[in-house]
Amino acid sequence: MSTWSVKMAAVTAALVLVAAAAIGASSDGVNKIRIAAASGATRVVLDLKRPVSHTVFTLSNPARVVVDLHATTIDATSIGVPGPTGIVQRVRLANRDNGDARVVLDLAEPARPRSFPVPPDGSSGHRLVIDLELLRTERVVKATPGAERGRNIVVALDAGHGGKDPGAIGRRGTREKDVVLQIVRRVKARIDREPGMEAYLTRDGDYFVPLRERIERARRQRADLFVSVHADAFKNQRARGSSVYVLSPRGASDEASRWLAERENAADLVGGVSLDDKDAMLASVLLDLSQTAAIDASTSVADQVLTRLGVVGRVHRTNVGRAGFLVLKSPDIPSILVETAFISNPAEEKQLKNAKHQEALAGAIVDGVRAYFYDNPPPGTLLAIEGPATRTGPVEHIIVRGDTLSDIASRYNVSLAALRRQNGLKNDRIRIGQVLQIPAGVGS
Ligand SMILES: [Zn+2]
Repeated sequence: MSTWSVKMAAVTAALVLVAAAAIGASSDGVNKIRIAAASGATRVVLDLKRPVSHTVFTLSNPARVVVDLHATTIDATSIGVPGPTGIVQRVRLANRDNGDARVVLDLAEPARPRSFPVPPDGSSGHRLVIDLELLRTERVVKATPGAERGRNIVVALDAGHGGKDPGAIGRRGTREKDVVLQIVRRVKARIDREPGMEAYLTRDGDYFVPLRERIERARRQRADLFVSVHADAFKNQRARGSSVYVLSPRGASDEASRWLAERENAADLVGGVSLDDKDAMLASVLLDLSQTAAIDASTSVADQVLTRLGVVGRVHRTNVGRAGFLVLKSPDIPSILVETAFISNPAEEKQLKNAKHQEALAGAIVDGVRAYFYDNPPPGTLLAIEGPATRTGPVEHIIVRGDTLSDIASRYNVSLAALRRQNGLKNDRIRIGQVLQIPAGVGS
């Protein structure tokens, strides 16, 4: 920005403030503005005299968040304007010709606003909360400090439902929220044992986390992959097997997917405040077209995981499903949703509670995730820098569609002959689902 335009911006700002003072309107909607900052997030709270409808949008260069309070007047002198706090450098107020009051937050750097009303509770009256989350957050690195070894791949594991939302319930009373947390913990333990990988849980207990918050938690960890784990339910008790879904950009692609998506998305309403209708900004960010690349990556991971689940047990559908699950709508993190089995099927309900079967499911998920990252290591990660040779112990490779023996040999940096010898193969014919032992200790 030129010096001239900086000056002009300052003049404009001064005029806005003068205008607000000149009108001298009392604040008929806002009592007070408060700002608090903690660990990278800044929260702005408007204490209201009554519920006020509003819109929030952002402006860039310089970064601003604008909050328009509909049919409201605001007065700086009566409410007191807070000083710089967190990323908010300045708060400006104005009453607009259309009858709205405008609150402009000048920011030190771009942030994503998330606004929601809070009803009165005891000591506090109606409030409008605007959370400002930095678009740029520090990456969490667990890799050896100092060394140029690359960071760990971060896998966000999301146990579906929780707290007041039990998810689906089996005939014997098994709750989806309990078994998926058990499975997810097993997946985490396995991933944390993988060289160059670490796992993060969006919930690690029996409590409710809104769907968008699950995405946000994964984003704050800079996750390379988001895996949501669920158990399916259907009115027909005989329905069985695992399914893996990725986001369908146009929502549900078939009737069953749509039904399922509605059921899983309904969880966001169970948790209390739904941000859906109030958060057009966030929604548009999430639905950005940059999802296309993430969906391609998601489909590759999903394919790998589904193939391995098919080895552990049955698959409900042989292809990766596409549905409009809200929890998969990260614009830039590949995301998959695993329906481990049908909790509504008595035999599978029993299996879902079984520790050995849970381990098998967890193993299938981790094998699929590992295979994907061996092929597609994110830049800057230990795996990208050092390659799969950093692994310890023997590795199994399960054949997926499109694999050839020579591809597998080069991927794991072993000779074709060694691969054939290890697996007693007389020729290069392989079949989907076949398990190959990759000779250990190679490539290093
Ligand atoms: Zn579920």
